[in-house]
Amino acid sequence: MSRRKGFTLVELLVVIGIIAILIGILLVALSRARAASNRVACLSNIRQLGTAVLQYCQDNGGWFPTCGLHEEAGFWVPYPEDWVHWQPNRRLADSAIARYLIRGEDAAPLKKLLTCPSDSVEGHREWPGQTPGQGPYLYSYAMNEAVGINQHPYPTRHPGYLKKLTAWRAGYKKIMLVEGSVPETTGAAWNINGALPLRHGTTKGKGNLRNTSPGNTIGNNVSAFFMDGHAEGINEDQACTEEQDLASAP
Ligand SMILES: [Zn+2]
Repeated sequence: MSRRKGFTLVELLVVIGIIAILIGILLVALSRARAASNRVACLSNIRQLGTAVLQYCQDNGGWFPTCGLHEEAGFWVPYPEDWVHWQPNRRLADSAIARYLIRGEDAAPLKKLLTCPSDSVEGHREWPGQTPGQGPYLYSYAMNEAVGINQHPYPTRHPGYLKKLTAWRAGYKKIMLVEGSVPETTGAAWNINGALPLRHGTTKGKGNLRNTSPGNTIGNNVSAFFMDGHAEGINEDQACTEEQDLASAP
């Protein structure tokens, strides 16, 4: 037998294989840790945004800012009171909630708050039928359109939706802000028929108003901010209910 001077090919392959497995385990652990930290950051974002909306209500006699829907056929129209001025021809720093979150003209901190770290906004697409020139909504959070709809003519809005913050009952279960529908976005607004994103995980649904049948894959751990000022992760079944529509469930 010849004296061994190094590794045989088999030994080398075994070592490489073991290292590959270890790297795989490490990567899985790292990606889970990143996903968990993204969820925490996302909840923190929506909590700060929601608190700013509540401050706006306090300063405006209990009225909500408008929800910032895309413009469509002169029916949904932008208003100065839109909570996020997200369209390319508007300044983010003019958003109704900006004064509670940024100082002066630098909107960068607000832009960061409006972006979930797990959201790849490049994939967002504009709502089919919206008036051209607005582009897609490039942020992650949307207001329940039941609380401040920007319907023409203002200030009549939708009579059934004309309610102050104090008119809502059981605020602990009424969604004010939530991660918006993707890939098609309806601007800075969401409603009870809107999908919720899958970016923080999925679960099997029980069936909901969005025409999803029991057993369908739905978004889970979606960040939501409630009228009583708390934030938590919810699934789409919890969001797409009539209870989240002020007109039908005050
Ligand atoms: Zn998120």
